[in-house]
Amino acid sequence: MEVIPNIHKVDGLRGSNAYLVSDQEGLILIDTGMPGNAQKIIDYVNSINRKPSEITRIVLTHCHMDHVGNVQELKGLTNAKVAIHREDAPFLTGEKSLPSPKGAVGVAFKAFSPFVKTKPVQPDILLEEGDRVGGMTVVHTPGHTPGSIALYDPEKKLIFIGDTMRYQNGKLTGPPEQFTPDMSEALRSIKKISLMEFDVMLSGHGDPLLPNASQMVKEFCNSLQI
Ligand SMILES: [Zn+2]
Ligand SMILES: [Zn+2]
Repeated sequence: MEVIPNIHKVDGLRGSNAYLVSDQEGLILIDTGMPGNAQKIIDYVNSINRKPSEITRIVLTHCHMDHVGNVQELKGLTNAKVAIHREDAPFLTGEKSLPSPKGAVGVAFKAFSPFVKTKPVQPDILLEEGDRVGGMTVVHTPGHTPGSIALYDPEKKLIFIGDTMRYQNGKLTGPPEQFTPDMSEALRSIKKISLMEFDVMLSGHGDPLLPNASQMVKEFCNSLQI
């Protein structure tokens, strides 16, 4: 679906979201979904009368499997350069492993993970706070992972937030605790985002939040007393 002009949420993905941004240089894909969804993303690109070769950039909000699951395959099917924050890059290349989730989920995750391992990928671009991608600025939002980022477009009044927050069933929440090794850092990142102005917030899971998204984030922050 086209959320606002030139900004698409890829239809048909389960579990996590991927987005397409159209600009004068082509298409930017933000996140790639769970493994096994590459063709769904390609089908969506075709359905909006664009070509996979027009995807020139893939930006990853953070290196969790449900966001980087198809990056290797899509890199091969498009003309994309892959960008990720410097601090999450070692997880993408396989140099380092992310900590396992906490509690019972962690036990299940450890048992399951050998079967759904994503293939290592070498990023082309290492991002840092303040870098530009298309018309968007990189905002470093560590906590959920060390190199989590948001992408902020002040002109469109739009932010891609990754997993730092999610809007689902009419409710705004922070990152899932069992998958967030540094919760206090994540809360500081939510506070950082709450100081920005935007109408539309697009998260890694759940639904688009609009209009007046930043107002809701400010209220959420107040409720958390951060
Ligand atoms: Zn995540
Ligand atoms: Zn996620």
